[in-house]
Amino acid sequence: MEKIRLAIIGGGPAGYTAAIYAARANLAPVVYLGPLPGGLLTQTGTVENFPGFPDGVNGFDLVYSMQQQSEKFGARIEMVSVEKVEFSPGGVQKLHIEGNETVEAEAVIVATGANPRWLGVPGEEKLKGHGVSACATCDGAFFKNKKVAVIGGGDSAMEEAITLANFAESVTVIHRRDALRASKIMVDRALSHPKLSFIWNTVTEAVLGDDHVTGLTLRNLKTGETSEFACDGVFAALGHKPATDLVKDYLELDEHGFILFKEHSATSVPGVFAAGDCADPRYRQAVTAAGSGAKAALDAERYLALKQ
Ligand code: NDP
Repeated sequence: MEKIRLAIIGGGPAGYTAAIYAARANLAPVVYLGPLPGGLLTQTGTVENFPGFPDGVNGFDLVYSMQQQSEKFGARIEMVSVEKVEFSPGGVQKLHIEGNETVEAEAVIVATGANPRWLGVPGEEKLKGHGVSACATCDGAFFKNKKVAVIGGGDSAMEEAITLANFAESVTVIHRRDALRASKIMVDRALSHPKLSFIWNTVTEAVLGDDHVTGLTLRNLKTGETSEFACDGVFAALGHKPATDLVKDYLELDEHGFILFKEHSATSVPGVFAAGDCADPRYRQAVTAAGSGAKAALDAERYLALKQ
């Protein structure tokens, strides 16, 4: 059984920033990347609001630079998932790694991020990968000259719609209200885009198609009227839910599943800290995730120093 000082679960901006700080503090952190190495940032296109990049930076490149920076200072990166944890308040924290290995850590930073939220309507699950997607950057190119729909009214929906407009013949944003939640700059860009159109006050009741998407069943919330909308693809942009199933039996969570902080970045279990989207229902930005990773590493460093 391997014994380490600090384990970091998750390799997005929060996990890698924690690793940079912890490695520079000589804690020899090990980062377990999990199912989506690099996190959600690898699925966005250009990141325009990360400070220090006036011309924007590709999401994948940004997170890869963070990985290299953490390795330069001595962090070890493991391309595996943690399948189970056994946390003990102030004690040894056990991580069961895929492939039957167990690791004992003196402290843990949970930076598991968040996963896309799906519609949960008939037809959606069956047609994932056959016209149903949650990542325009990943799948947009399959919809060259096709007709696609984007569901949602936040920044992700606007970003997905604008990305898809580079490929698709037309992009229709379908939103359940008559006002967008997205930031003003994204709303302005989307509303003035020649290829984008909007359907308001409308929810999706089903995704239609046998082996690929052929359309959607829509319901107007104002009139109650149901209609069919023909399209070749549908992108869910409904926000994200925290990836906290792994730790839910040990850490206090809020009613939506986000990890609750006890004090600063400490969770309800002494020795276990949290950072990034898994503990952040409010900001969910790459830069705030990175900042919270730094805080968690500094708190873990203090905890380990006091334990000695
Ligand atoms: P949000 O939670 O902001 O938006 C989710 C959208 O999906 C909302 O419009 C919501 O509707 C709608 N929605 C949720 N569930 C359903 C459902 N079951 N059926 C229909 N519609 C649904 O998530 P985002 O991912 O867009 O953004 C998350 C955070 O990341 C935000 O802080 C955002 O600013 C940021 N972000 C920033 C970007 C940028 O600056 N370039 C890019 C992407 C994200 P309703 O509005 O009615 O609640």
